Amino acid sequence: MISSRRRPVAASVLLALEAVVFALFVTESVTGAIAAVGFTCLSVWVHVVLHECGHLVAAKLLRLPIVAVRIAPFTGRRNEVVVRPAPSATALPLRMVLFYLAGPVANMCAAAALAVAGASTSTPMTRLALLGAALVAALLGVLNLIPGTSPRSDGRNLLRWLSAPTATRAGLRAAHYQEEINRTVRAVSPPPGGPVRDGEDPRGALAAFQQRWSTGRAQSAADLVADAERLAALARADTTDPVAAAAIGQVLTVQFGLWYLYGAVVNGAPVERREVLEIAELAQIAFHVQPHLMSARVAMSLAHLLNHRPEQARSLLVDIRPGVDPPDLCDIAFLLRAVAECQLGNHADADALVRAAGGGYPQLTEVVAAIRAAHPTPPLFAVAPMAAT
Ligand SMILES: [Zn+2]
Repeated sequence: MISSRRRPVAASVLLALEAVVFALFVTESVTGAIAAVGFTCLSVWVHVVLHECGHLVAAKLLRLPIVAVRIAPFTGRRNEVVVRPAPSATALPLRMVLFYLAGPVANMCAAAALAVAGASTSTPMTRLALLGAALVAALLGVLNLIPGTSPRSDGRNLLRWLSAPTATRAGLRAAHYQEEINRTVRAVSPPPGGPVRDGEDPRGALAAFQQRWSTGRAQSAADLVADAERLAALARADTTDPVAAAAIGQVLTVQFGLWYLYGAVVNGAPVERREVLEIAELAQIAFHVQPHLMSARVAMSLAHLLNHRPEQARSLLVDIRPGVDPPDLCDIAFLLRAVAECQLGNHADADALVRAAGGGYPQLTEVVAAIRAAHPTPPLFAVAPMAAT
């Protein structure tokens, strides 16, 4: 039996041998056959580079922000050009379709050029080599257009942007918003540097939760909720150290509170009353222990906003100190206070706060702008009573 790792190598060697035998019939020369097949095999390297260059040139021409370029054929590493467009960018579906098409199109163009060159040559060995390379280029282009299971598959991404542009753009916006939430979560509770130990120790459990969910490798929403419920139980337990409970309360309030804000504003789905009560309880655990900390005040003000208490939310965020508190936390505080000012009808104050926040949180800024633009301000969140603070 051949091991699964060796199987592709064995298949490639067998294929190359068959190609040499075929080439022998055409060229009637052993060296000619080996040279033609060798040229075809080596051309794979060029076609892979051409494919990624196609994506790269398209990204440049279409002004799509490039975040990573990895081109290293046959090193075992993934070859890719990664772009990170703003979800609200103009004509994004068309630009993304052209970006994903560019790689396979580069291969098709190379295939056509090689085929023309091969057809116009009279030497059998050169013709075979050029036609073989053309076949490899065409195959690479076609294979990349077939929708695969990988999230990086050209075919799969093409199909998504073509068949469901609105949903794909919404998914991109939600992913960017989650990145902003992750940054906020890190600002309210920096994760430990070293390896973490999961279990019933509250600090270890919180660190494990953050490591699992802030890296963007989330398994499912149901897993996230189950994880969060275990943590919330630890925060409420009498045996838990109050400072550890406060850290858990802050992280869960920010993680879920910002999603509830997004759900209400972007998806038009205000959060249920029991969720508001749970958020308020967790925020209170944090605020009760460390009322002076900006992170605790951010969490508590978010709970107040969800509970339709803009005055209380604003009063906690009057004293925002850039340069003293972490920049990410200050930006979030400015934006949450902008939401409170919008709800109170102070639109000029809200605009000034959005400017003070800078552009570091574009998705949350858009959420604030959506609340600001609503006339009159609609009841965005479920009204629910909250425990006295
Ligand atoms: Zn590609």
